[in-house]
Formats: sequence, structure tokens, C-alpha cells
Amino acid sequence: MNNPVEVYNAADEVQASLIVGMLQQNGIRAQVIGGILNAALGELPASSVSPRVWVNDSDETAARQLIETWQLQRTSEQPVTQLPGWTCPRCGTDIELGFDVCWKCLYNPAAC
Ligand SMILES: [Zn+2]
Repeated sequence: MNNPVEVYNAADEVQASLIVGMLQQNGIRAQVIGGILNAALGELPASSVSPRVWVNDSDETAARQLIETWQLQRTSEQPVTQLPGWTCPRCGTDIELGFDVCWKCLYNPAAC
């Protein structure tokens, strides 16, 4: 990168790499600077570092728009919905989520 600029200050490494991946899918070269990896190398103090996403300054505008769109999409996503319960294939009892085995006949789907 000739003139890298910071376009995003991520909360953690996972978020930073998600954004980098998203930008690269859109043809923008991006990289993470900072975060735990660099801190682990002794370059930066871990406590004061959050990973930042950098792109070339020529891509800055496009990158910011992509990140903005990406964040809107993520915040509009439904929270992880609970998995439905399941029906025991042996006795037909409806089992609530949280039970690994049928409470009626003790059928265990994981063991079969
Ligand atoms: Zn059963």
C-alpha cells in the first residue's frame, strides 16, 4: 500500500478480519493493523490496542461506503433465533429445545 489510511477501528480481531474479507471480496485491498497479533509480538501494548482496518487512500471512499452498508446489514439482521425443538422419531413426542434425549422413551438422537 502506498498511502494507507485507517477506515475502521474494530472492536476485536474477528470483526476486523470480517471487514477485511468483505472489502477484499469487493476488490479492495485491506489489511488489519494493530490488535492482539501485533501486541503479542511486543510492538504494541495489548491493553490500548484495537485492530484497525487500513486501505489505500484511493479506496477510502469506497471502503467507507462498503463498511457502512455492511454494518447496516448486520444490525438489521435478526438476533440468532432459537433452534426449534425436535420430535422423537421413536415415540413421536415433541421435545423442547434443551433436551438431548427424549424424556419419554430416552431415545438419544446423537447416539444413533
Ligand atoms: Zn421418544
